[in-house]
Amino acid sequence: NTSLHELDPEIAAAVDAELNRQQSTLEMIASENFAPLAVMEAQGSVLTNKYAEGYPGRRYYGGCEHVDVAEQIAIDRVKELFGAEYANVQPHSGASANQAALFALAQPGDTILGLDLAHGGHLTHGMRLNFSGKQFDVVAYHVDAETGLVDMAELERLAKEHRPKVIIAGWSAYPRELDFAEFRRIADEVEAYLWVDMAHFAGLVAAGLHANPVPFADVVTSTTHKTLGGPRGGIILARNKDFAKKLNSAVFPGFQGGPLEHVIAAKAVSFKVAASEDFKERQRRTVDGARILAERLTAADAREAGVNVLSGGTDVHLILVDLRESELDGQQAEDRLHEVGITVNRNAVPNDPRPPMVTSGLRIGTPALATRGFTAEDFAEVADVIAEALKPSYDAEALKARVKALAGKHPLYPGLNK
Ligand code: PLP
Repeated sequence: NTSLHELDPEIAAAVDAELNRQQSTLEMIASENFAPLAVMEAQGSVLTNKYAEGYPGRRYYGGCEHVDVAEQIAIDRVKELFGAEYANVQPHSGASANQAALFALAQPGDTILGLDLAHGGHLTHGMRLNFSGKQFDVVAYHVDAETGLVDMAELERLAKEHRPKVIIAGWSAYPRELDFAEFRRIADEVEAYLWVDMAHFAGLVAAGLHANPVPFADVVTSTTHKTLGGPRGGIILARNKDFAKKLNSAVFPGFQGGPLEHVIAAKAVSFKVAASEDFKERQRRTVDGARILAERLTAADAREAGVNVLSGGTDVHLILVDLRESELDGQQAEDRLHEVGITVNRNAVPNDPRPPMVTSGLRIGTPALATRGFTAEDFAEVADVIAEALKPSYDAEALKARVKALAGKHPLYPGLNK
């Protein structure tokens, strides 16, 4: 019964320092969010002690009657939330969900067609060093250099030429909605399966602010910790039960052993939250915040400083800043924002002239600040701080004070400070 602080002061100190970092800085990494206390409570519960290989009602261990309840609630809630007939809530992460989805739809050696990593795709969509790139024959589609939009004509041409087994729609760094009906049409034309990875925009879908891919895709995967705002983890959904057996068996026993029932319970809590009116309102502020950022960073003074916004704006929770005409590279810009208290990540822009560790862009997202309670007015202030910080000369002390004022206005996890 010894507390963490008593048992392991070194780890407790790291946790406390991380809490302080989250509270005192502005988190704008597009894939991050702040889970509610109730989600963290479920995640820190005794469910972590339970082995439950198998699925609710069909386990390989005794004593699963209570975790069965929690897992079934998670399944039912997420099916309802996204209008899916099938759900698997066991994947430990987004990458695990994607691995299971891919192996349920295709065999090693089959051709897959996904968005190039350097154009906004994810590692699991066919990157050379990832399982997807090592075990499948990968063809990549791209965004158009002029418009910054996915080049659907190229996608169709590549699909007809290579006849992939699976077409992957989804992204980690792309600021616009995809046309799922068009993806479906192209997939049908070449008899490919369509897999949509909605990890980034699932929260917007749940709130009805983004098209739902479930009716269009054969399989949909997601993380639960990005815009969806839950615990770190993955899910797999499908509009019908056609792939249910294959998907379930790919997750367990295919790639995983015992499910993380404490995380699954936390996922269930987050699905309940995601069905609420408060959540919708939060997602609206998220999208509005990203639009406000895009508007500020396309204003004349930002453009004079060599700052551009890819595709000219956003439909979602993030923007991609193009620094190819700026004095700053991606690394320098990330460091500048870090210096004033704003956390973002550098990001390659399509056809980036700089190496991946440096890049010529930034990815900036609004989900975490929206969860913190930021309004349009607050986002306008953050956007102005960012625009000022990216100019050739900037007043770091003044910008730090403005960041501190914003963080102070919206306290995060106030009850957690010891
Ligand atoms: N899919 C997409 C589109 C992502 O952006 C990410 C994470 O960045 C993942 C999957 C992987 O999720 P995880 O980091 O939980 O493995």
